Amino acid sequence: MGLIVQKYGGSSVADAEGMKRVANRIVAAKRDGNQVVVVVSAMGDTTDELIDLAKQITPIPSGRELDMLLTAGERISMALLAMAITNLGHEARSFTGSQAGVITTSAHGRARIIDVTPGRIQEALAEGAIAIVAGFQGISQDTKDVTTLGRGGSDTTAVALAAALEADVCEIYTDVDGIFSADPRVVPTARKLKTVTYEEMLELAASGAKVLHLRCVEYARRYDLPIHVRSSFTTNEGTWVVKDHPQGGEMEQAIISGIAHDKSEAKITIVGVPDRTGVAARIFQAIADADINIDMIVQNVSAAATGLTDISFTLPKDEGADATAILQKLQGEVGFASIQYDDQIGKLSLIGAGMRSHPGITATFFGAMSEAGINIEMISTSEIRISIICRQADLERGAKAAHAAFGLDADSNEAVVYGGTGR
Ligand code: ADP
Ligand code: ASP
Ligand code: MG
Repeated sequence: MGLIVQKYGGSSVADAEGMKRVANRIVAAKRDGNQVVVVVSAMGDTTDELIDLAKQITPIPSGRELDMLLTAGERISMALLAMAITNLGHEARSFTGSQAGVITTSAHGRARIIDVTPGRIQEALAEGAIAIVAGFQGISQDTKDVTTLGRGGSDTTAVALAAALEADVCEIYTDVDGIFSADPRVVPTARKLKTVTYEEMLELAASGAKVLHLRCVEYARRYDLPIHVRSSFTTNEGTWVVKDHPQGGEMEQAIISGIAHDKSEAKITIVGVPDRTGVAARIFQAIADADINIDMIVQNVSAAATGLTDISFTLPKDEGADATAILQKLQGEVGFASIQYDDQIGKLSLIGAGMRSHPGITATFFGAMSEAGINIEMISTSEIRISIICRQADLERGAKAAHAAFGLDADSNEAVVYGGTGR
């Protein structure tokens, strides 16, 4: 007998039929002799709809109230799923994040899990019940307010619970058959990966592949907990996220494991910055003080005649307005000419551990972009990743071109999307 944590995403429980289908799967795992803990997301696009609703009331809702609102989505799911399981003759008990012992920081909308104290879950399991936990939420250690973990955060609830409960496996059920070499919604020829390493998945998630929440991968790596990403619509074996690719496996030779694309970033260019020691530090300190995360940075050599340079950086679109306001306040002190804001950019990333030992990846990548007529605006690299910024309108074409250039296209069309709206 094992302990399994299963997580079902919004598209898997989009309607009553979905709830019943998922309930059957959960009961099957229980009948197989396992203790089962289930983490569930809000139904379909509920979270987006609740955000839209809040914005109709006020353009900038308070973090505390927005979190209170959004956690309702997962609570609806947990109660309905518990009812569906009860209907099948098994005992199920639903728990909010707080009841499940998910203790977080107080940063509304992006709280981090500090501790998990799943006493009530263990009690329910000991009494033979299936425990259903509302994903993506917790309670702040300091303020005792309800918090959310950021979009896609139910994955992290599942992995954190699995680690705390010392589960044998954490299964993430979604609307595709696993982790593919690219987003199947964008690259229909994407191929399913048998295994992905934590290291590769961290880069994929950080580069926009929303199939797994970045922090859930960090968590899984820290606890060396295997994650099995699979479809809730089929019984196909999915993708295992593990420490190392198995020896002799197909992935050993792969140079590029996956391609990720990201439309969620914007670019800010500070034009005419005096090229003096301490100026860049001043600018980025102000951005950091506002807790804004930046991604890529490019600074050109200053023009000899003027001693001025341009600095560009990318950041989440959601934080664009705040960052622009902060920079405007600095204009007098730093003495730059102007600020340009561009939210029509896209980021395309190639990820693969094999990159370390293979020269020429950049040349092939850039060659493919050139052939597709795509202009590269910014570049950044890590040991196992190359990312570029291009026009957002070119992004999907770029993803397909890079996928083909690295020979990743599958022979048969295995990249089926079973549900979801891609929102
Ligand atoms: P859930 O609601 O189950 O959490 P998400 O929408 O958050 O599902 O994540 C699943 C989606 O992630 C897929 O439908 C797919 O469009 C997208 N995706 C992006 N990159 C990948 C990838 N490399 N492999 C699989 N899916 C991906
Ligand atoms: N419902 C939340 C979201 O849409 C959390 C999740 O689905 O993981 O982001
Ligand atoms: Mg998700």
